[in-house]
Amino acid sequence: MSIKENLEHINAKIAEAAKKSGRKREDILLLAVSKTVEVPRIKEAVDLGLLDLGENKPQEINWKYFEIENVRWHQIGHLQTNKVKYIIDKVCLIHSVESLKLAEEISKRAKAKDITMDILIEINIAGEEAKHGVPLGEAEALAVEISKLDNIKVKGLMTVAPFVENPDENRQYFAQMRKLFVDIRDKNYNNIDMKYLSMGMTNDYEAAIEEGANIVRIGTGLFGARNYTKN
Ligand SMILES: *Cc1c(COP(=O)(O)O)cnc(C)c1O
Repeated sequence: MSIKENLEHINAKIAEAAKKSGRKREDILLLAVSKTVEVPRIKEAVDLGLLDLGENKPQEINWKYFEIENVRWHQIGHLQTNKVKYIIDKVCLIHSVESLKLAEEISKRAKAKDITMDILIEINIAGEEAKHGVPLGEAEALAVEISKLDNIKVKGLMTVAPFVENPDENRQYFAQMRKLFVDIRDKNYNNIDMKYLSMGMTNDYEAAIEEGANIVRIGTGLFGARNYTKN
């Protein structure tokens, strides 16, 4: 299937899932995950209106940024502290903040560029050993610590749910994410603006939206299978 056909299919599914949770298609951001995808194919997606692109590796954002214009880049994969400097002035949102140390580096680098960087706290919702993110129970305290730093703003939560055959198995995790998202939002902390709940990928985005996601990150479903399985 072409990217266009894939997108039409996904848009219909997003609209349906949004409706089930009392929202509209426009309330959900479809983030096109372009990691490992070649520039011409990414441009095809951009021409179809996908202006938010997600990448795992800072190195990849670092060169694609100059090849593809007028889009918004999102850092969605694990970010090492020493790589922050490569992307600080190239991305609009960092989805994968999981430590105060990383947040301090983002704050410092953002300050040097005179910008404020929006970030999400990444949660390891199922406590999987191979996954990044903080435990659910530590996310609020981390968000509060980060909110005290300059030039960085907590805008929500992100998770990568377990890989499962049946996406319904992840609903419990998405619901836990949603609950914490609302809890933190309702406390109205200074300098925390709970706007984005980033969860759901090709295999489970409909369940994620039904449980409250407003950003879904989709790679394979749009561009087809990647050449390698890692990532
Ligand atoms: C690769 C990746 C995705 C997209 O995964 P698909 O299953 O291809 O849709 C989403 N989020 C993160 C953090 C990723 O690394």
